[in-house]
Amino acid sequence: MRSITVLGATGSIGQNTLDVIRRHRESFSVFALTAMNQYQQLAQLCHEFKPQYAVIGNAEHAKALSQLLAGSDTEVLVGSAQLAEVSSAASVDVVMAAIVGAAGLKPTLAAIDSGKTVLLANKEALVVSGELFIQHAARSGATILPVDSEHNAIFQCLPELQQQQVGKMDLGAAGIDHILLTGSGGPFRDTPLTELAAQSPEAACNHPNWSMGRKISVDSATMLNKGLEYIEARWLFNCTKEQLQIVIHPQSVIHSMVQYVDGSVIAQLGEPDMRTPIAHTLGFPDRIKSGVKGLNFAELGALTFKQPGSERYPCLQLAIDCCWQGQSATTVLNAANEVAVDAFLNGHIGFTQIAETCDWTLQHQTLAVCDSIEALMDLDTLARELTNQRVKQVSHA
Ligand code: NAD
Ligand code: MG
Repeated sequence: MRSITVLGATGSIGQNTLDVIRRHRESFSVFALTAMNQYQQLAQLCHEFKPQYAVIGNAEHAKALSQLLAGSDTEVLVGSAQLAEVSSAASVDVVMAAIVGAAGLKPTLAAIDSGKTVLLANKEALVVSGELFIQHAARSGATILPVDSEHNAIFQCLPELQQQQVGKMDLGAAGIDHILLTGSGGPFRDTPLTELAAQSPEAACNHPNWSMGRKISVDSATMLNKGLEYIEARWLFNCTKEQLQIVIHPQSVIHSMVQYVDGSVIAQLGEPDMRTPIAHTLGFPDRIKSGVKGLNFAELGALTFKQPGSERYPCLQLAIDCCWQGQSATTVLNAANEVAVDAFLNGHIGFTQIAETCDWTLQHQTLAVCDSIEALMDLDTLARELTNQRVKQVSHA
């Protein structure tokens, strides 16, 4: 029986994680569940999974949550500092890192620093702190298992030795020529370019293949999600520029591939359902049932591929450029994007202004060299302030 904390339990990944755990109650005891605002949903989950702790974002919600949990064995904690506590507590074995955005970095790092097995969904943590994050894991001996479907697919296509060396593997020595990250191209893959500017938040969140949280859904529409994943892959698999490629694959059946020097390509396939990669990390190295049905190849039809166009996806090129420019650039890009996506979802800027805003912040934010997590978080704060000012200037609502 392993003890697990689920950070971001009420989100899309959190709920899928609990759905897999529900099928394996004999293998997991839930130590803590956390959420930012959704106290009613969190209360329901606590009644079902009976964690020792529930962490909620603010005092007002904590009061309401305590009332809903009166008489239960779950203790209510409040605020972000407590997230680190329930991620690093001695009796915790596994932490599912499924908070959205850079807010997930500190609690995820707390789990890393205390040597836990970290199931990493929160890609922004690696985008914001890449090399330092990997260094922390090397120091503590924490195990990182990638949950993001592409990175989980790549992990599954790697030899066992490389699987044991997340963050510090040598792809060339393993006979790997390059990694191919696949992406669907999002809901606007075939939308005329002239119609992109007028797209609504609802249309952007209406992903053709995956059901996800709103922020990552918008990132998928701009393909900045693939850009963040490119940066995430660079750190998880220790890639050079030549070892990392992106290809559009509209059906989302192949979740990513590894091309070996002998010409072999190993791919991981499956239904586009996050419970598969989540179950892979929860069971690893064993295989456990996820509730996802197997692929039916007779019904599948064609699998197609094409190159992503830079005119349609300017955010993707920004991310690739930032990746090789250095840590400060990806930290600033992530902060600018979080602010811009929020502004778009709240109707303050249009869809194509997300890329324009990110580009503007990257050009106007001084990129100080950051050699600590604190320095990176300070840069993140500065970049958010600058982007907020820019959003106010260009806002139409
Ligand atoms: P979501 O918006 O559905 O859920 C986010 C969760 O984090 C919620 O429980 C919310 O309460 C909590 N949260 C939000 N802000 C917080 C804050 N400031 N402090 C503490 N908790 C906070 O998001 P999601 O789609 O589940 O995505 C979670 C992470 O997983 C993201 O980093 C995303 O990129 C990554 N991811 C998601 C998917 C997917 O299919 N949804 C796939 C791959 C990777
Ligand atoms: Mg992904």
